[in-house]
Amino acid sequence: MADVPPLADPPVTIEPRFGEGSRILVTGGAGFVPSHVVDRLLDRGATVVVVDNFITGAKENIAHHEGNPRFTLVEADVAEPLPRVPALGGRFDAIMHLASPASPTDFRRYALEIMRVNGVGTLHLLERAVADGARFLLASTSEAYGDPLVHPQPESYWGNVNPIGERAVYDESKRFAEAATMAYHRDRGADVAIVRIFNTYGPRMSLDDGRAIPTFITQALRGEPVTVMGTGQQTRSICYVDDLVRGILALLDSRETGPINCGATHEISMRALAETIVSLVGSSSPIVHVAKAPDDPERRRPDLTLARRLLGYEPVVAPEEGLRRTVEYFRQRLT
Ligand code: NAD
Ligand code: UDP
Repeated sequence: MADVPPLADPPVTIEPRFGEGSRILVTGGAGFVPSHVVDRLLDRGATVVVVDNFITGAKENIAHHEGNPRFTLVEADVAEPLPRVPALGGRFDAIMHLASPASPTDFRRYALEIMRVNGVGTLHLLERAVADGARFLLASTSEAYGDPLVHPQPESYWGNVNPIGERAVYDESKRFAEAATMAYHRDRGADVAIVRIFNTYGPRMSLDDGRAIPTFITQALRGEPVTVMGTGQQTRSICYVDDLVRGILALLDSRETGPINCGATHEISMRALAETIVSLVGSSSPIVHVAKAPDDPERRRPDLTLARRLLGYEPVVAPEEGLRRTVEYFRQRLT
């Protein structure tokens, strides 16, 4: 992991290097976060090939790129060898491995698929990155820290993960993906970057995603009870998707390996989050408490020191504003 240099003055700015003339493979590009990454890459003039099997993603997230000659969608499972189609034939300058179901609801529904995409899928894509001489960026997660005993969580913290629980299929397969990425870097000279993403929300989360924010918003808009799990005192630090995507692209453009945390530091309890959303929606939904999820982390908050110093990263969207935009998106989807 990179040493922390003294705070740069003036602040670091990372110049975009994967823009016009670059060919970029984005796995999982039809998903929530990845589809926003695809938008920004196309805005910069890059050529983008998305590979997605739609296990949790949706065609409508990328439908607005149909007809763009710099955009191609390939429907395939990246845990299998990539299909021999022209779009996947040429050399890629960067491979962004963002594919993986990410909601705790999916940890039960898609346990083996999650292990395959983060395990076998990561190995396949690292091989391809070495063959192409491409920069490889892995979307890892704050779940690598498990139920952390250190707050906020710096990248140097090794985590507190139950290796056999329901969440392990995700936590441990992302930890495997990180280990594989670093092994390819050390042994095969792969140019790699690992981002540990903290709870991110925004438009294009799916209605049945199961994560707290889309669930609370959907319930509040429908006037249904808002289901807080356990005591509701557990916390998360929520990041609006535009901020996260800026951080991911700064890491891609940088020469850093990471892992680097990316997210925001607005730590909020789930009870307070439910109350905020009910009030923003103007809903009369009651807030009810339901069973706690197994191994549910009690507190989570990123230490963003590395992202700030190495990438010049700073999240700027206030939670009220980000939640307002997200509520508007869900309101339109539900009417
Ligand atoms: P998402 O489910 O909306 O997107 C994942 C995409 O990957 C979907 O389009 C899905 O169909 C695709 N996919 C899954 N398995 C695949 C496979 N085998 N082959 C091809 N495509 C496949 O989830 P998201 O929240 O946008 O997460 C995107 C990435 O960011 C994931 O790697 C996730 O682990 C990571 N992440 C997200 C968050 C967050 O708060 N959103 C937090 C930590 C990490
Ligand atoms: N949560 C909740 N009600 C829900 C969904 C989630 O209270 O309907 C809680 C969950 O127990 C956890 C927090 O919200 O403590 C965040 O869960 P989420 O699924 O959004 O993401 P996680 O950070 O656990 O991956």
